[in-house]
Amino acid sequence: TTVGVLLESEGRERRVALTPDGAARLRKQDVEVLVEAGAGRRAWFEDVGYADAGCVVVPRGQVYADSDVLLCLRPPGDLASARPGQVLVGLLGPLGDPALAQSLAAAGLTAISLDLLPRTLSRAQSMDALTSQANVAGYKAALLAAEAYPGFFPMLMTAAGTTRPAQVLVLGAGVAGLQAIATARRLGAQVTGYDVRDAARADLASTGAAVLELSTPRAEAEGGYARELTAGEAEAQLRGMAGAVPRFDVVITTAQVPGGRPPLLVTAAALAGMRPGSVVIDLASTAEGGNVEGSIPDTRTVTTEGVTVIGAANLASTVPGAASTAYGRNVLALLAMLMPHGEVVLDLDDEILSAVTVSHGGRVVHPRVRALLD
Ligand code: NAD
Repeated sequence: TTVGVLLESEGRERRVALTPDGAARLRKQDVEVLVEAGAGRRAWFEDVGYADAGCVVVPRGQVYADSDVLLCLRPPGDLASARPGQVLVGLLGPLGDPALAQSLAAAGLTAISLDLLPRTLSRAQSMDALTSQANVAGYKAALLAAEAYPGFFPMLMTAAGTTRPAQVLVLGAGVAGLQAIATARRLGAQVTGYDVRDAARADLASTGAAVLELSTPRAEAEGGYARELTAGEAEAQLRGMAGAVPRFDVVITTAQVPGGRPPLLVTAAALAGMRPGSVVIDLASTAEGGNVEGSIPDTRTVTTEGVTVIGAANLASTVPGAASTAYGRNVLALLAMLMPHGEVVLDLDDEILSAVTVSHGGRVVHPRVRALLD
């Protein structure tokens, strides 16, 4: 079996799907590994590192021509180069882009998307790329906030007096939010967290952060996720938030609802109530809107009131070494299941493999993706 590692098509994406260390582990199992020239360079994994690990570094065309399994993060921009029957493993986002699923099927690819993983199964945890990447993003969010903030995060006692610690609010206490909280606390900020799930509030309490209490409802859904709030609940949440947000120097938002648009949590009016120099980081920022009104993906703006708003939806890519290492481990865990004896065996009776398979045999086979296409 030959596994191919593609250079990410998106120019700003710095991660790579497999590191030289990860590749070495495949080589030990006698799997051939082809790596596109430059695939790891933006994460500081040089071609020579892959060659030393026993990989063959080749041009993109040869990766497509000679691989049985292709590894990527985001969907490659040149799917027409793929061969029918090839397996593509990535974070393909088919629920947000069902048309892509259709083109994957049309290309005859067996497409496996790690964002479809049933995350609560303990057997799946080593493959949980959403968690590994959210963890990196949450860490970087706190650093980004500290860098943009004009003051210190910690309380510092110096001969010239004492500085007060930054007050940081983290909205959404899932994987990214909890890591943002831990990181901001390590930097010495006073951190408050907020979530709509009871389990998340328990997690919050265990980090030592304060918990923001708003008179909004509990909103648990299946699989440990949050459900979308009703219009009335969302309105009450926004009112409560507008009162709370101006008390903070830094707000980091991470709220997501699976399969839905990210909830709006911080309105322009709430931003306007913050002190000049305050910083707001929106990890849920999308072109169609995120948790913060007016946030623009990958862009830093300053409101007329002097509040810095940073749209930061792909922070994992900005810590590319750690993110690629973690992602590569997730991929290796998946490959161990997909290639139990070195050959690809797609067992669609397996709970995990059937959940992550988007297309196979020329058809979109994932029920939820199919439903979006009908
Ligand atoms: P996510 O990215 O879907 O959402 C981030 C957070 O936003 C969640 O905590 C969610 O409750 C919160 N949120 C949604 N709407 C909100 C609103 N209107 N206001 C405030 N907060 C809102 O979540 P995630 O981090 O991917 O994972 C969600 C949870 O699932 C995590 O806490 C995690 O512990 C759990 N999980 C469990 C496993 C497992 O059992 N192995 C694996 C992965 C995740």
